[in-house]
Amino acid sequence: MSPPENKISPLKNPITSLWGVGAERAAQLARLEIFTIEDLLLHRPKRYEDRRHFRKISELTKDEAFTARGKIVALGLKRFRGGSKSVFEIILDDGSARLHCRWWNLPFMENYFAMGDEVFVFGKLKETKPRTMDHPETEVIEGGEESFIHINRIAPVYPLTEGLPQRWLRGLIWRTLEKFETEIAEPKPAPDLKLFPTRANAVRMIHFPEELTDVEIARRRLALDEFIALQLEIQTRRKNFEARTKALPCGGNNWLMKPFLSRLGFKLTEAQTKVLREIRHDMNGKHPMRRLLQGDVGSGKTAVAACSALMAIESGFNVALMAPTEILAEQHFRNFKKWFEPLGIKVELQTGSRKTRGDGRWQMADGKRSPTSNSHLPSAIFIGTHALLTSGFDLPKLGLVIIDEQHKFGVAQREQLVRKGNYPHLLVMTATPIPRTLGLTLYGDLDVSVIDEMPGGRGKIKTFVRAADKVPKVFEFIREKLKAGRQVYVVYPRVEENAVGLKAVTKEFENLQKNLAPFRVGLLHGRLKSAEKENVMAEFRANKIHVLLSTSLIEVGVDVPNATVMLVENAEAFGLAQLHQLRGRIGRGAHESFCILISDAKNEESQARLKILEETNDGFKIAEADLKLRGPGELLGQQQSGLPKFRFGNLVEDLDLIRQARELTR
Ligand code: ADP
Ligand code: MG
Repeated sequence: MSPPENKISPLKNPITSLWGVGAERAAQLARLEIFTIEDLLLHRPKRYEDRRHFRKISELTKDEAFTARGKIVALGLKRFRGGSKSVFEIILDDGSARLHCRWWNLPFMENYFAMGDEVFVFGKLKETKPRTMDHPETEVIEGGEESFIHINRIAPVYPLTEGLPQRWLRGLIWRTLEKFETEIAEPKPAPDLKLFPTRANAVRMIHFPEELTDVEIARRRLALDEFIALQLEIQTRRKNFEARTKALPCGGNNWLMKPFLSRLGFKLTEAQTKVLREIRHDMNGKHPMRRLLQGDVGSGKTAVAACSALMAIESGFNVALMAPTEILAEQHFRNFKKWFEPLGIKVELQTGSRKTRGDGRWQMADGKRSPTSNSHLPSAIFIGTHALLTSGFDLPKLGLVIIDEQHKFGVAQREQLVRKGNYPHLLVMTATPIPRTLGLTLYGDLDVSVIDEMPGGRGKIKTFVRAADKVPKVFEFIREKLKAGRQVYVVYPRVEENAVGLKAVTKEFENLQKNLAPFRVGLLHGRLKSAEKENVMAEFRANKIHVLLSTSLIEVGVDVPNATVMLVENAEAFGLAQLHQLRGRIGRGAHESFCILISDAKNEESQARLKILEETNDGFKIAEADLKLRGPGELLGQQQSGLPKFRFGNLVEDLDLIRQARELTR
């Protein structure tokens, strides 16, 4: 006999197996992503109405939405502008006062109401004389057997789709719950029922709470179940991966590392050394490394990447390093050439616009082809953008893949690159400090290392938020710094002028040139050709250009230690994590640095947001604040496709539940 958990749960049956759900209703429910009975039972109410207590119509206000009820004492549809526009109106009376409810240009609303109907109405007043609401949410109160589902209780109000009545859906969920409640099983492993209601209870409470406080209790239980399911999935993936793969021996033996470190020009920080020990342990291990390296901007991740690459190369393997932009790939290319070529290691570049080798097989800079089997050729590091992914060639003897600034890549892309080789080791580096909640869910399948210490000898960064009328003074200050030999970034949010009034780099370029003459200003934005971009960057690096005017293009990775001022206009248009990245472009040399954020946003929230940057330089604090203010999608960038969808789980607030789920599934 098969164990009971192998029985297919009736909750997985399609929604059409329910009485009363035909093709039309099923199509409507599908638009709400409800396909099975389980989906229906987990359809989360968007709010609740306490229909045990109402507001009198005479007590309704303009400030806050309330529920009232009344009887329709008049109704009618008025058409105007030759019948192309309309307004439908009902007047409700509850004995205390009358309420006008209007729907503009929705003439079919007429079909839903009749004289004398009792109606619930939820909304706030638009006008007080007479009391009027526009487009309120309403529900006609019907008598009959099932009326107890809808009235004299806390009633759930669901997200709907066109044609789907609130009352019908509530009735369906009630009846489905009655029939299937006993089929709602505890997950395995199950949480401690002294701390949480059963899952079945939680499902009932989320739909039909006895008190409003039940709702959060139920939500937390259902969120916990989501996190448990996610953890189990991550673990299964990891186990499958480990069963399928064997690590390439890439631990190295220091014969290149020693000369590299002695010529590097600085000593690795303790944090860098600690991380390298973890990486070496992985690359000597049984299974391919899957490691995330987090380190705030400027913490020295590139040197860690270089050392990791050397371990693989010492072991006779090649390395691929992938960066999110061409500018960054070019910068890595230059650094690694300087570091690696004296050691006899080939350094190759492949971006959308430039490559240092032929098509097909990797071709070395000296023109020799490198067949996969020919092991006496020197090892190489291949540096590129996502162009490294575009198929057509294989990377021979690939031992290690390093992805820089992970948040610009989707999870799918990451896997795509890694599958190119014979399961190479993978090191993912990110400067976006991932708040713990996100990290545990998003990168649950990666081990995590953190560089939690900055290299010494850095100048401090001071940050100021200023209103636009202070710009002339700011420019005085900038000119002083230029005279002292420093360089400056100026960042605007958009390339072209647009309707919102955001300043545009192309237009401001001329102004800035005049304003800062005789110092030279360079212009950088995404619409320039790659060669032009690289040219501007080269001149800025060489201090031939003193001021770099740019869009947020320079946000990641760019490293010019002599640049000590970062001026950001329309700062409110950026996310906090992004501003922190921009600020990370300065403070890289010994000189004191200054980040000046110009914002005229009147909005208090905008101001409070920017204040956080004045107050702290701690990337983790900033990322947590950004997550709270803007949500995970914004923080990680649109391309981040790996984020699971939660119905109940909240990545901002549920850290304790995520922890419990990890404990339970360990
Ligand atoms: P990020 O972590 O943002 O990628 P980088 O790797 O670009 O940072 O390093 C920032 C700067 O710090 C570079 O100029 C790099 O050479 C320098 N650096 C890295 N490690 C150290 C160290 N241990 N001591 C001094 N400077 C270092
Ligand atoms: Mg970097």
